Amino acid sequence: MKVTEHIKNANGKTQFSFEILPPLKGQNIQSIFDHIDPLMEFNPPFIDVTYHREEYIYKEQENGLLKKHIVKKRPGTVGICAAIQNKYKVDAIPHILCGGFTKEDTENFLIDLDFLGIENVMALRGDAVKNETYFRPEKEGNAYAGDLVAQIQSMNQGIYLDDEMQNPCPTNFCIGVAGYPEKHMEAPNLDNDLHFLKKKIQNGATYIVTQMFFDNQKFFDFVEKCRKEGIEVPIIPGLKPITTKSQINMIPHRFHIDLPDELLIEVIKCKDNKAVQEVGVEWAIQQSKELQQAGIPVLHYYSMGKSEAVKAIAKEIF
Ligand code: FAD
Repeated sequence: MKVTEHIKNANGKTQFSFEILPPLKGQNIQSIFDHIDPLMEFNPPFIDVTYHREEYIYKEQENGLLKKHIVKKRPGTVGICAAIQNKYKVDAIPHILCGGFTKEDTENFLIDLDFLGIENVMALRGDAVKNETYFRPEKEGNAYAGDLVAQIQSMNQGIYLDDEMQNPCPTNFCIGVAGYPEKHMEAPNLDNDLHFLKKKIQNGATYIVTQMFFDNQKFFDFVEKCRKEGIEVPIIPGLKPITTKSQINMIPHRFHIDLPDELLIEVIKCKDNKAVQEVGVEWAIQQSKELQQAGIPVLHYYSMGKSEAVKAIAKEIF
């Protein structure tokens, strides 16, 4: 079922969802099931599976010269989605990127998803890979998430890249996109970022999932601004419990968001990461309660391989 239908059918009840990362190459899929199993009692209508681009590493050869090797550290997004739908009978949402994909690759990827009965996709641009300063699209690829959304929406209308196809079947994907309550790191300001977020919706996206935030007011202000801009689709907040002390520096650096003083003070006081996790979970519980009371349709948790912390929150909320 489509995310928009899940929201409609819930009749105003706040639902629980979460995101998982494919395991590192060489790991068994059981590690994914072990992560999902404890969270199934909270009836997630859908589970997101992230997509990870290839990275390059340079290996020294016998002649002393360096040779570029392509490494895919977390392959398996599509296979995991198929396995989730099969095992749990829950909608799995693969993330799909502009980065690393030509439009032809994108089309073929979407054909696979369609054949697997996957009805939702999360369309993203992706970040620059480690050895790039700025994001660089493939030569024949989409440059922005908005372009990717337009390509998916074309397929939904039965328009493929090969315009000589005979009676092509339209796909029927529900398309989600990312939103940034504290603006995307490259955007010159929030209004400019919202202009392009609106374009993603105009191109065919029907719901938004936000970057994580730790101050609900930032989310509420963002939703208000979106509505003023005429963005009317459901906006699903992304939440993450802090679980280690190092995250108080890593999260702002990596995701370009602020952490409130009140949270920082409590984390800094902690003697070990067990105590940090307790603080992080309690903070996320309070955030979740307020969002639930505000009638937010879905709370989406970035579990990042830590189902224990997400379960502790879900037990209090759902
Ligand atoms: P876009 O919407 O394309 O925006 C990127 C920047 O370009 C913004 O600053 C925007 O304002 C600007 N912009 C947009 N359109 C235009 C235009 N036409 N002209 C000029 N400027 C424009 N990354 C992964 O690698 N894998 C994942 O699975 C993944 N999942 C994510 C899930 C969520 C919910 C979120 C919030 C992020 C996720 N990311 C993931 C990270 C994401 O790929 C990065 O944040 C990336 O830098 C931007 O992606 P986007 O889709 O928001 O890009």
